[in-house]
Amino acid sequence: MRDTERDLTLRLEVARLREETARLRQELGLKNQNINLLTKINRNMRAALSVREVSYLLLTAATAGAGLGFNRAALFLRDPDSDRLRGIMGIGPDTEEEAHRVYEDADRKRYGFDFYINQFYERNFAISGHFHDTVVRVDCPPSRSNVLHQVLAAKMPRIFSETDAPEWKGAEVLGELFTSEFLVASIANTTEALGVILVDNFFTNRPIMTEDVWALQTLCDFGASMLLSARHYEEAEKRSVIDDLTRIYNYRYLREKLCDEIERGRRYKRRFSVILADIDHFKNFNDKNGHLTGNKALKDMARIFAENIRTVDTVARFGGEEFMVVLPETERDGARRAAEKLLAKVRASHFTGEENQPQGRVTFSAGVASFPDDAEDFEGLIEAADRRLYIAKAQGRNCIVSE
Ligand code: GH3
Ligand code: MG
Ligand code: MG
Repeated sequence: MRDTERDLTLRLEVARLREETARLRQELGLKNQNINLLTKINRNMRAALSVREVSYLLLTAATAGAGLGFNRAALFLRDPDSDRLRGIMGIGPDTEEEAHRVYEDADRKRYGFDFYINQFYERNFAISGHFHDTVVRVDCPPSRSNVLHQVLAAKMPRIFSETDAPEWKGAEVLGELFTSEFLVASIANTTEALGVILVDNFFTNRPIMTEDVWALQTLCDFGASMLLSARHYEEAEKRSVIDDLTRIYNYRYLREKLCDEIERGRRYKRRFSVILADIDHFKNFNDKNGHLTGNKALKDMARIFAENIRTVDTVARFGGEEFMVVLPETERDGARRAAEKLLAKVRASHFTGEENQPQGRVTFSAGVASFPDDAEDFEGLIEAADRRLYIAKAQGRNCIVSE
């Protein structure tokens, strides 16, 4: 090989290597970006997230500038029983003007991920807008020609463009929204196909690149495990019989317990009573001391009740600031004495913020009802107790009414 020839080959080789290095560097940069994003999502994960919270987190990660930066993103989840894909949530501006305003704002103020998450909590998980409303109307039966089902079945991300003439079958409303290019990726693990995320750049028209495809797929893979644990959490919560705040039994358990007791009472001719207690002026307590101190008072009240009843008795949170005690083998007078004892304990206890109550302390009013004298069914017993509770309030509160 002549020297000039070798020289040329070398130079070409150097150029090729340079190009390769630049490509790898860019790839590495993107991978870093992806890892950063996943770290951010991870930080916003709480011990217990609902499916709705996870949905929002994923779509925000797909759309926020600090995330993957797509213009719009929509989530569809598969109903395990019917196999239908249902629209859950859509995030993104509705008009050019809104898009510009949102993007400029985000650029100028450098909104991070946390900003959007906080906003979501402040809005009480509400999402609005035409895009979201359209997405949630989607309910498409399994069909091989539907683009969403296709991607879910193949578990492979895919870019669709106008030339693909995608078939919406059952999700025609979406066809109206996506005219140009869009990308769909599946949320699935090895055993379960959970749903898909669809993204596009409707307003900026930025072309969707190969890197985008894999970034979205990485997000979806992460989303699969988040959604599964959210689902498990929600199912566990549904089965739960413990009230989250006060850690005593919840209404669901109370109803079962009371119905069992009624059944036993009817069969074995047993008597029992219930106490329905409602904290006095609790709205005032919240207004003066704040909701968190209010929560603390509820917890303290639950503890006082739990510590001062017999082991065979059951106390449950009946509602907001209402508690119910079920007292087996107890007649009206016994229940009344039990309620008086509880009220005395509550009056004597110290509650943070009690000085702001009308009488400088926390009290409750209660109504007592007995089986079978007042009623022989669940609704009847509750009604009887509630009626007497109402009378106790009318009599000036801080007292028990049992007849
Ligand atoms: P009354 O003496 O007639 O019972 O007056 P009240 O203010 O207690 O009654 P009302 O039913 O008007 O108010 C109940 C209050 O209880 C209002 C609500 O904000 C508060 N509340 C209900 N659930 C919770 C809770 O979980 N935490 C807190 N902090 N407050 C709660
Ligand atoms: Mg009340
Ligand atoms: Mg009250």
